[in-house]
Amino acid sequence: MNRVRLLVFNAALGALDYRVPDGMAVAPGSVVAAPLGPRQIVGIVWEEERLPAESVPDAKLRPLVEVLPVPPLRAELRRLIEWTADYYCAPLSAVARMVISSGGALRGPATMTEYRLSGGMPERMTPQRERAMERLEGEQATIRELADTAGVSEGVLRGLVNQGALEPITVDCDRPYSRARAGHATVELNPEQAAVAARLVEAVNEGAFAPFLLDGVTGSGKTETYFEAVAAALERERQVLVLLPEIALTQAFLRRFEDRFGAPPVVWHSSLKSTERRRAWRAIAGGEAQVVVGARSALFLPYARLGLIVVDEAHEVSFKQDEGVRYNARDVAVMRAHFEALPVVLASATPALESLQMAESGIYERLELPSRFGAAELPAIETVDLTEDPPERGRWLAPRLTQELAVRLERGEQSLLFLNRRGYAPLTLCRNCGFRFECPNCTAWLVEHRFTRRLACHHCGHETAPPATCPECGEPDCLVACGPGVERIADEVAEILPGARVAVATSDTLNSPERAAEFVSQVEEGAIDVIVGTQLVTKGFHFPELTLVGVVDADLGLEGGDLRAAERTYQQVAQVAGRAGRGEKPGQVLIQTRHPEAPVIAALAAGDRDAFYAAETEARRHAGAPPFGRWAAIIVSSEDEAEAKEAARAIGGTRPDLPDIAIFGPAPAPLSLLRGRYRYRLLINARRSARLQDTIRTWLNALDFPRGVRVSIDIDPYSF
Ligand code: ADP
Ligand code: ZN
Repeated sequence: MNRVRLLVFNAALGALDYRVPDGMAVAPGSVVAAPLGPRQIVGIVWEEERLPAESVPDAKLRPLVEVLPVPPLRAELRRLIEWTADYYCAPLSAVARMVISSGGALRGPATMTEYRLSGGMPERMTPQRERAMERLEGEQATIRELADTAGVSEGVLRGLVNQGALEPITVDCDRPYSRARAGHATVELNPEQAAVAARLVEAVNEGAFAPFLLDGVTGSGKTETYFEAVAAALERERQVLVLLPEIALTQAFLRRFEDRFGAPPVVWHSSLKSTERRRAWRAIAGGEAQVVVGARSALFLPYARLGLIVVDEAHEVSFKQDEGVRYNARDVAVMRAHFEALPVVLASATPALESLQMAESGIYERLELPSRFGAAELPAIETVDLTEDPPERGRWLAPRLTQELAVRLERGEQSLLFLNRRGYAPLTLCRNCGFRFECPNCTAWLVEHRFTRRLACHHCGHETAPPATCPECGEPDCLVACGPGVERIADEVAEILPGARVAVATSDTLNSPERAAEFVSQVEEGAIDVIVGTQLVTKGFHFPELTLVGVVDADLGLEGGDLRAAERTYQQVAQVAGRAGRGEKPGQVLIQTRHPEAPVIAALAAGDRDAFYAAETEARRHAGAPPFGRWAAIIVSSEDEAEAKEAARAIGGTRPDLPDIAIFGPAPAPLSLLRGRYRYRLLINARRSARLQDTIRTWLNALDFPRGVRVSIDIDPYSF
């Protein structure tokens, strides 16, 4: 009899055995439907010897239902799934789910039905119908998605369909994408760039595992050079994956890509509509999608013939996923390239210390582009000591910085002020009694947003209108804003420079690709004088008229006490400084700080990258931190505080005693209440040689927890 083992998308079940009916052809990787109780489930046929399961006698096996009409998952991808689950201590099924369920429905025809307003009116109008119709102007999506957009139930929309006010549109998810062609470079590469490009092209043509660190200052032409590798892959009809950290940046990238290759790439991110998602998934699995530009989740798609992976801005924190399977897309990208035998390029102007170390030890090949392209020089960087040159009372910009802003305005040049804080003020309190507005679901202050007139939690999305009176003491009009956010800085600029056209650029204001594109063209047309923005504007943008960058508070990131704080501050400030002077005109950067002597600030001001990395290397070596040692975190959470604490104690109480692993905690996690769950944390610091994952697995597997308790493991955590 023919039996197979399935990996099923349920962590509790893991793997199950089935009988293969006569005449059905399956092999490892086949995606199949199988019965489970009264239901049907989807599973992936796996090599039996690689996947333990409970043994079931032949006679009891139930037969598979059918093989689904999608290409089988290739062995290279199955090995990547296994590696990811093993390394990050995640269930195999959870990793496999990232590959499969992102494709939407796997069965049936390749068409889906979307709806849009027909222009007709329903016979009977209700307030809900009216509201829905207002909000659905210009939208087209599935009923499910339209209901989300309109904030009404699907039932309301079905009513509108029945009355003819919404009309169905059949969407073909197999319609082809326009073809990109290898073409020719649109710029003439300088000798340094040409050498880097030639090496990358050679690696694409060799088709073997080859990890590169493309280390070049902002504006040195990293993108231009890896485009040559993309062209080489296109010529060989291999697929390319380019991972970008931020969707907001893709518009500019897509335009540039289309100019170079004659067609836009296939885009992948979490806010795609389901029809777009399904179309992209099918084209990727079928091999028709040539170049995919995506967020980190694009890494786990079932590419049919991948030939190159690029991770742009590889140092970015957003490549780290902090929920579900907690993985780092930068590191998994290298593993994928390893299993698939292909080149992978990590591009950055400010690489993570881990990546630099890999280059230094010869595991990654380092390609350098040390200077900016053409006449553009790196900007002059200066610190403004806030203890010596303080802003006026109630203000945040020092006289030195406001003078320079005025000079730029006079000359018709642009300025950028960077502050990594959305909203108007990070903390709001009552002027009478000092009551602080706190999120009911999280250990966090509510942040005042003046544009939208809301108090909002940046962790769970909780929002309320600012109350007319203090909820504690009843004082009317009592709110006082404490500290600056970008909206407050924008107000200050408008006060100091009444003629200036000021734009706030954050994930609140640039919350869709369209709005991001509009912002970029406004800046390019010179319709904006001063941009006030968060980390969203630190990278990717290329504005030739931008000659001044002001860092409002460089000390902000250093306060957290987090081991990577110095590196992150260095990266953020260096990246935002890289926005200045990208054209003909020289750039200037002013960094406001209370600690100009701090090593990271001093290195920034001196433009001495090597000094920063040398100091940081020593600090990490001393602390046994990555890349010299490894960290992991165990996070225990529950809606019940006592239950969370008890579970954390139980874990702490059974800690293994090993010479090469130190375990700290449990202690309340930094956000000890998050989205209504109480959180405790244990931190683990291990020598490189320690069996970290095995130790954690054995330790936790021996324990049982109540149903409401969630225990998650974070290997190589970013923030703690
Ligand atoms: P990076 O990715 O390192 O920040 P880019 O590839 O985006 O650098 O290049 C910065 C700018 O300089 C872009 O506008 C790019 O088109 C331009 N550029 C880079 N190299 C050349 C070149 N050899 N000839 C003309 N323009 C170039
Ligand atoms: Zn909250």
